[in-house]
Amino acid sequence: VVDSLSKARRSWNMSRIRGKDTEPERVVRSALHRIGFRFRLHVKSLPGKPDIVLPRYKTVVFVDGCYWHRHPLCKNATTPSTRTAFWTHKFASNKRNDRLVRQRLTSLGWTVESVWECEVAHEKKNYVALLRRLSRRRRRYIGVAHPA
Ligand SMILES: [Zn+2]
Repeated sequence: VVDSLSKARRSWNMSRIRGKDTEPERVVRSALHRIGFRFRLHVKSLPGKPDIVLPRYKTVVFVDGCYWHRHPLCKNATTPSTRTAFWTHKFASNKRNDRLVRQRLTSLGWTVESVWECEVAHEKKNYVALLRRLSRRRRRYIGVAHPA
């Protein structure tokens, strides 16, 4: 399989490697901000250093890169054509780690939400549904905190 990552996509991936915020993360953050959420970023004390943490709602949001986190059937989840065995192993271990991180967070009482970067980029159903879900959760909270 030819590694067909576009240059732009590659720079998204690279920014992730350097540990900086990726473009999809910024998009999700600003959408949540518009809904009224205030949050913490990359909380190092939590398993997996979640991208976005909503402490009041005990919810974390991962914005998963399709390439490193292996979005099933996604065209961005290519495999390099050289050292394929190495990469296959590496990707499998990424996926295993993702699963463990989510299990640990859940067992600590956190609600774990995640969205694929391509879903954010193209405002796909899952991403829109995530925003709706979080928006409802926030309105419920406001309703409880400030009864009319
Ligand atoms: Zn994808």
